[in-house]
Amino acid sequence: MALLQIAEPGMSTAPHEHRLAVGIDLGTTHSLVATVRSGSAECLPDEAGRVILPSVVRYGPQGARCIGHDALASADVDTANTVFSAKRLMGRGYEDVTGLQMPYALKAPDDGKTGMVQIQTEFQTLSPVQVSADILKVLRKRAEATLGGELVGAVITVPAYFDDAQRQATKDAAQLAGLNVLRLINEPTAAALAYGLDQNAQGQFVVFDLGGGTFDVSILRLTGGVFEVLATGGDSALGGDDFDRALAEHFISTHGLVNLTPRQRSRLVMACRRAKEQISSEHTAFLSVDFSDKETIAETITAVQFAQIVEPLVKRCITAARKTLRDSELSKEDIKGVVMVGGSTRMPVIREAVKEFFGQDPLVNLNPDEVVAIGAAIQADTLAGNRNDDELLLLDVIPLSLGLETMGGLTERVINRNSTIPVARAQEFTTFKDGQTAMAIHVVQGERELVSENRSLARFELRGIPPMVAGAARIRVTFQVDADGLLAVTARELSSGVQAQIEVKPSYGLGDDEIAHMLKSSFEFAQDDMMARQLREQQVEALRLIESVEAAMQVDSALLSAAEMTLIEKELGSLRELVKTDQLRDIEKGIETLGEATADFAAKRMDEGIRKALTGRTIEGVSETFGK
Ligand code: ADP
Ligand code: MG
Repeated sequence: MALLQIAEPGMSTAPHEHRLAVGIDLGTTHSLVATVRSGSAECLPDEAGRVILPSVVRYGPQGARCIGHDALASADVDTANTVFSAKRLMGRGYEDVTGLQMPYALKAPDDGKTGMVQIQTEFQTLSPVQVSADILKVLRKRAEATLGGELVGAVITVPAYFDDAQRQATKDAAQLAGLNVLRLINEPTAAALAYGLDQNAQGQFVVFDLGGGTFDVSILRLTGGVFEVLATGGDSALGGDDFDRALAEHFISTHGLVNLTPRQRSRLVMACRRAKEQISSEHTAFLSVDFSDKETIAETITAVQFAQIVEPLVKRCITAARKTLRDSELSKEDIKGVVMVGGSTRMPVIREAVKEFFGQDPLVNLNPDEVVAIGAAIQADTLAGNRNDDELLLLDVIPLSLGLETMGGLTERVINRNSTIPVARAQEFTTFKDGQTAMAIHVVQGERELVSENRSLARFELRGIPPMVAGAARIRVTFQVDADGLLAVTARELSSGVQAQIEVKPSYGLGDDEIAHMLKSSFEFAQDDMMARQLREQQVEALRLIESVEAAMQVDSALLSAAEMTLIEKELGSLRELVKTDQLRDIEKGIETLGEATADFAAKRMDEGIRKALTGRTIEGVSETFGK
């Protein structure tokens, strides 16, 4: 019999009231997570107040990794192990990316198993999917910590030109990061949503996205609240980084800096990047780089000089925009609005060129770094069912198993996937603590062993359980799915008839491929899951032992000598500490040791119990008590 997790009543959140969903901009250079709170979308900052997470992971020995700002800081000292721009490798084969110059090593997959290009650091071989998953995981944790609950899911943005393999790779990364993908949406569509352009009756819009390493232009047509991508274009090898390099080249030639080491070069480029960003808001920037063995640079650069240096790059952007417009068979006059996206559109040179070309002021009131994540968050909020205007998904079979969370965060399946509906199944559970009068019931969906890897559907409480010793209560939980795919869960304590019930309405569905993947990952992770399950089970076992020894000591301490008491206290203390760790073997040993330390005590208690039970009873009474 499985045990239900007991949570303090009133402590659990009520996700069916507001379902926590986020939008994620998984960018080439930067990634962000946003959510809708009290009706408005906002990006979520880290502990240091930064919303931007550099899409950079540094890999060390034994699986050690560092993600984001710290990894970026080490990029020029540990180039071989610091992976950036993984997005460019997502869903691509080795041949597709031979043109990319990366400071870390790329290689073809050994066995042709996945076909996706692999990253070879000093310590491991990685798939770009893993790198993206590492980044997504940080954002998921940030969101969960900020919002204080489990996420229903995420909308993740991808470039409009991403093909099936690239989209699938993005989904895989999300699954690996423990995120439920509500939907992948195109970055330009997200930007348009952030500006509320979907509120327009109809019209054509340009989304001009100049990021760190890529330039994407998209022409969208809106009709009846649906965005259609008319054309995509741009330049996948043009972005803010090129502006940094152009500035660096300028200094290299004016200062005659020959034979810079890769590290020196990267320091110079970083300094140029800071100067470039400063020039977006100020008229000048001061740049200083000390090379020790070469001429030191200490120079002020003006906005006018900068504009001259980067002019060829600005021209390339406009040429690409013109071409995309031509592909869409529209003219400038047909364009109702131009949305600016990407950190590089902060550059006044870019804004001016866009204004001149399209003959209108571009939309810049939203933060260009955040606009994609904001739009994704708005979409996520809708898909999660927080705005009561979306359709319900009708099911004919249960696509994923339905079950309950039991002790240790494990999933106990009640209805298996592919059961046809309508269907009803019941299972019995029991309590964990003596005298417990309430229990929290958490309904989950998915095939994985751990609740955290599955999708949370609902939580409710069963109250008014008569106080009994742990394990004595019998709680029957019934799952019922009606023909509309609506799930109702009822919990009933059998001896008292106390009952609690909830209806779970799926307000969005998972796509077939998502389901396929979740199934696949449940096989892939079976090994991990087994280990995790064993650990949780031992932790639960340890907690039960601690509970019962503590309870026994309170009642029957008179049966113990001072020495025995001290020994038991000591073993109790060390098991209490061990149970907080993930050391499976140590916990098992701790349980054994405490068991040994209390063996005599248990025997004495048993004798005592029998002695009490026998006092004043006839043989018939005894057989009545013990005969069953
Ligand atoms: P991506 O979508 O590729 O992840 P972002 O949209 O975050 O990239 O853009 C990153 C680029 O924006 C970098 O090249 C960065 O230098 C540039 N950037 C950020 N802020 C500014 C600024 N104030 N002025 C000019 N460029 C900026
Ligand atoms: Mg971007």
